[in-house]
Amino acid sequence: MAKQPMLKFVKISRDMPEKRGAETRKEDFDEIYAEFASAKAEEQASRCSQCGVPYCQSHCPLHNNIPDWLNLTATGRLEEAYAVSQATNTFPEICGRICPQDRLCEGNCVIEQSGHGTVTIGSVEKYITDTAWEKGWVKPASPAVERSESVGIIGAGPGGLAAADMLRRAGVQVTVYDRYDRGGGLLTYGIPGFKLEKEIVMRRMKQLEDGGVRFVMNCTVGEDMSFEEIRNQHDAVIVATGVYKSRDLTGPGAGAKGIVKAIDYLTASNRVANFGDTVPEYDSGELNANGKNVVVIGGGDTAMDCVRTAIRQGATSVKCLYRRDRANMPGSQRETQNAEEEGVQFEWLTAPKSFKGDPVSAVVVDRMRLGLPDASGRQSPEIIDGSEYDEPADIVIKALGFEAEELPTLWGAPELEVTRWGTIRAEFTSGRTALPGVYAVGDIVRGASLVVWAIRDGRDCAEHVLQDLDKQAVIAAE
Ligand code: FAD
Ligand code: SF4
Ligand code: SF4
Repeated sequence: MAKQPMLKFVKISRDMPEKRGAETRKEDFDEIYAEFASAKAEEQASRCSQCGVPYCQSHCPLHNNIPDWLNLTATGRLEEAYAVSQATNTFPEICGRICPQDRLCEGNCVIEQSGHGTVTIGSVEKYITDTAWEKGWVKPASPAVERSESVGIIGAGPGGLAAADMLRRAGVQVTVYDRYDRGGGLLTYGIPGFKLEKEIVMRRMKQLEDGGVRFVMNCTVGEDMSFEEIRNQHDAVIVATGVYKSRDLTGPGAGAKGIVKAIDYLTASNRVANFGDTVPEYDSGELNANGKNVVVIGGGDTAMDCVRTAIRQGATSVKCLYRRDRANMPGSQRETQNAEEEGVQFEWLTAPKSFKGDPVSAVVVDRMRLGLPDASGRQSPEIIDGSEYDEPADIVIKALGFEAEELPTLWGAPELEVTRWGTIRAEFTSGRTALPGVYAVGDIVRGASLVVWAIRDGRDCAEHVLQDLDKQAVIAAE
């Protein structure tokens, strides 16, 4: 009888790829996890119990066929594993690196519930596709038939790029417009290199270009080109612009010099550290933490990326203020632990009251406690009277979340319906908006979300755009 290659979780423990030591990794912006060696990937994949009802798969936004690609990896059939993995995910190596797996696939792996560590799904997914790149199995689109219809996509983030890839593979003529000089959206300029090295994103950009996707960069729709012009040039338009309006701080002194937005700070760092760009605000010190006492305000993933960037820039001290406690923070526990190992100090249950100096020299901080649950069931933070203290700060980074820009106004398109949060109102799954031939995907529909959801939206939307183009072609032929 053939040897059972799977179900090894009883004998083999969960093992992650090696993590570089904090003292070494905080000296650079390279990723902190190494790649699995092939034997290790096979061993870790073999821990899967091949569940009949795989909860990992149902909790993956892309419904990746995880048990199958784990089985194929465990048995050394890597090219097939890659074929299965890429059939549902446009960028598996990116998701393998930056999905919050503890809240998605791995967080629902049943072997953890039976007291064994979860299967390291994300690391195996990354290993499969990194190997596929190495072996030359990842190919640009080469559609069997070219179609005459064209689709314009506004935004080269993961949502727009996933849609572009699907449409181009179906032979559609695709043009992507973006206001930045490089594609990738937040993959390139938001998420730091120590979570996602930029060559990983740039090789995907090249693959899309090689497959015939046309990119128009440095083009802000609403300024350099009107939304109307784009609609007139294409049979369909997909809006994938993300959310970039930073939530602001209030309180006396909140407008002082030295209080900066997280997105500006991270973009400058990504440009300088990963691409060697010259950024005047970085050189002047405005967006550079070197030699400074840094205070980051917020408890989400953006705040975690800011504190860890500040450490790498050589800050004197880095403190993170968050108004709830550790158990109630929105950011990933894994990233928080990484930040602590690298020397970040967390001040749980604290909130800024006011700011001293201009440029800023200190944050006046209130201590908080958790009170009664609010309407959402979450305990509301309350100020502890008389608890205030001064936290020295030469730079304060606001990482309080993002909202949608007012697109209907900016684009002179009042008929583009939005929700009360300013996000575009779009039909579930198809992404169709109130405007005929206009679709929307990713954060601009969901509000600040995740890369994997933007990919899912882009893929779903592309399928519906194709169906709608087919219907129009039939009507035109009648
Ligand atoms: P985006 O990635 O924001 O891309 C939108 C693109 O549209 C941009 O390139 C922008 O330049 C362009 N654009 C906007 N307006 C215009 C215009 N008017 N004209 C032309 N172009 C325009 N998610 C995870 O899953 N894991 C993580 O670890 C993670 N870390 C994050 C860290 C940070 C600091 C931030 C801010 C977010 C993080 N996220 C993470 C969330 C994730 O990056 C987003 O959910 C995802 O990128 C959304 O994809 P998108 O395509 O909708 O938009
Ligand atoms: Fe897990 Fe994300 Fe991969 Fe899905 S895409 S299997 S959630 S790492
Ligand atoms: Fe394998 Fe865990 Fe998924 Fe079950 S839930 S199929 S054990 S990865």
